[in-house]
Amino acid sequence: MTFLDQRVTFLPPGMGAVVYGIFATSLALLWSGLRSFDGYRPIWRVQIVCVAGTAATYAGLSLVWPDGRFAMAGMFLCLSAVMVQVLRTLFTTRDRTRLVSRYLVGTALSVFLLLFLATSVIAVAAPERVLGVDNVSYSLVADQALSVLIYIGLLAMAGERAHSQVERLALTDPLTGLVNRRGIGILAERLTRLPASLHRTAAVLVCDIDRFKAINDTHGHEAGDAVLRQFATRLSGTFRRRTDIVGRWGGEEFLIVLPDTPLAEALRLAERFRRSVEETPFDLDGRPLDVTVSIGATAIPAGEDRLDPAVRRADAALYEAKSEGRNRVRLGAPEA
Ligand code: GH3
Ligand code: MG
Ligand code: MG
Repeated sequence: MTFLDQRVTFLPPGMGAVVYGIFATSLALLWSGLRSFDGYRPIWRVQIVCVAGTAATYAGLSLVWPDGRFAMAGMFLCLSAVMVQVLRTLFTTRDRTRLVSRYLVGTALSVFLLLFLATSVIAVAAPERVLGVDNVSYSLVADQALSVLIYIGLLAMAGERAHSQVERLALTDPLTGLVNRRGIGILAERLTRLPASLHRTAAVLVCDIDRFKAINDTHGHEAGDAVLRQFATRLSGTFRRRTDIVGRWGGEEFLIVLPDTPLAEALRLAERFRRSVEETPFDLDGRPLDVTVSIGATAIPAGEDRLDPAVRRADAALYEAKSEGRNRVRLGAPEA
């Protein structure tokens, strides 16, 4: 009897175990590849169980029920279990880089999972539909189309992540982990370029550690670095709204942009931060170190679509704070 006459045909136990074992192997390798991509070790023992389990399930069930429908259903359930692991790895990663391509791969794999589950149900309920000639062609087409999406997505994931890592490095200050001057510029531009109807008053603070050179000179450059790191941590802890921009402007100078913040509120926050720096000593390997900070504050009024004028006003205010004796907050009023 030929394949066409019979309309339904299942692979014999041995051949099926090999073919579906290879299928499970490709999924298991995809799983380990995704784990490596995210910096996890492959779990070989579990992978071997997945492959051997799929092959043994097919062979075992088709020996017990030679018509093969339970073997097909069991085998597809095994593949579904492996696929769930693959999807779990794909979407519960510690890698915080958001990758569009990850969603492309995930979507294609989810469709595969749904097809596996549907096939295992249909294999029992209507086996002639699983391996009927028409359905074999449909599943071949679906298989190829989804595979292409998955391959493209996997290739894109590596490129997309490399790109976003380079971008992140270029915009991050390595000592403090804050955004650097270039990063501040890009983030602030997004804010100042908002349409006028959305542009509400933002505030800018320039914070400069007082007599920082003396800290370097007295305790060494390493101690100076430690103070900069702790200062950055304190800043991020104080200005912690999701939209606040906290960056290192250069040296011992930090710049903060507070969107949607009236100047009075910004002055209150700046004063609170100044006082907490004065009152809570920094930690130099267990030894306390008193530090103070001077702050220049100003507003970015609606209509001002660049950061530079505000930084100049805040700098002038900072200069005033320094010349009046340091450890204080001063306001740089917008020009009329
Ligand atoms: P003022 O109160 O007027 O601000 O005095 P200051 O000593 O804080 O300012 P000054 O500009 O004279 O000195 C800043 C010092 O910061 C000089 C520079 O060597 C040091 N510095 C800049 N970047 C770093 C860094 O990344 N690490 C360390 N340890 N020191 C740095
Ligand atoms: Mg200084
Ligand atoms: Mg300075």
